[in-house]
Amino acid sequence: PVTLAGHSYEVLTGPQLLHDAGLRIRPHLPNNRAVILTDSTVASLHLAALEESLTRAGIHFATITVPPGESSKSLKRFEDVIETILAQGIERGTTIIAFGGGVVGDLAGFVAASILRGVPFIQIPTTLLAQVDSSVGGKTGINAKAGKNLIGAFWQPNLVLADTTVLDTLPPRQLVAGYAEIVKSGLIADERLFAWCEQHGHAVLKGDPAALGEAVRRACLFKTGVVQDDERESAHSGGRALLNLGHTFAHAFEAEFHYDGRLLHGEAVSIGLHMALALSVKMGLAPQDDLARLDAHLHKLNMPVGKADLPHNLSTATLLAHMGRDKKLREGKVTFVLLHGIGKAFTCRDVALEDVRALLLAEGFAP
Ligand code: NAD
Ligand code: ZN
Repeated sequence: PVTLAGHSYEVLTGPQLLHDAGLRIRPHLPNNRAVILTDSTVASLHLAALEESLTRAGIHFATITVPPGESSKSLKRFEDVIETILAQGIERGTTIIAFGGGVVGDLAGFVAASILRGVPFIQIPTTLLAQVDSSVGGKTGINAKAGKNLIGAFWQPNLVLADTTVLDTLPPRQLVAGYAEIVKSGLIADERLFAWCEQHGHAVLKGDPAALGEAVRRACLFKTGVVQDDERESAHSGGRALLNLGHTFAHAFEAEFHYDGRLLHGEAVSIGLHMALALSVKMGLAPQDDLARLDAHLHKLNMPVGKADLPHNLSTATLLAHMGRDKKLREGKVTFVLLHGIGKAFTCRDVALEDVRALLLAEGFAP
């Protein structure tokens, strides 16, 4: 359960949930009507199972399919989807169901938040990243020309149904990308989750059903706890802001590759985690042994860990420029999530840009 001030919901994780999705969803539908939003890849693989399940449960629904990929998180696509739903006719109780990865979840959630000033919303995440991260917590939104996720709303789902069996069809790179967010959770505040990853990460990335199920369960427990304590990312230190561990670096890497699939978000995060801990070590805040432990884990699983894992080298100057834009620069200082060690993240408001520059150069990035 996620227990929030005005709104509570359940996150269900496990194998074969899609089969009974209709029966699980029906009690949450005010008027027994739903609109499924999905992308064409997920539709071709898994939509029949979902639709069949809703039909068996006697739910009335329509389905809207968007192209796969980040480009669907656009104002244009948002407009198309809203106009399509309005043209078909929608009542206040009609529920929007997101069936796909984080792209579909973010778009569908923002549609649900906006249409008729807000209709009920259900998440059925189908990527590992969406199951362990984006489907829980109520952040929804789309991209603007000026940057990613700049248009959006907090809109909590009424139910999250994470069927780990649908991950069977996920390409290995997408599995790695989602797994990086699980390692992140362990690093932030759950040393036992990190230790679990060291034991079972290999099985997770092989797609072992039991390991995947357990990884999703543990990561969702972690994320629901964080979201409950700080629903709107308002805590001064700690709270949801810590979920950005590794992300200041990751966003700078991603921006350079234009979200065109050459570098996935989770791949950038994997490198970002190494960088955040390396920066903490460089600043004398974390033990070198913990960095060696993280790197050993990432190397063992062939996860991205440094500049050699990027499609091509990037310049320190460009990366610093992105970070300055990402986090407001104050007198050469930036805010970073850093670590006192594995499981001990904190927000540091006065990291000197000079220290970041020195780290990037030491890590082999071009001047
Ligand atoms: P995605 O939604 O683009 O999915 C990745 C690819 O996998 C797509 O091509 C999709 O069609 C395909 N796919 C999905 N499920 C599949 C399945 N079961 N089998 C085979 N292929 C499948 O990407 P993502 O990594 O899931 O999500 C990334 C997005 O999530 C980004 O836009 C990011 O900003 C957002 N995000 C949001 C939050 C949040 O809190 N709202 C958190 C993290 C990330
Ligand atoms: Zn992330």
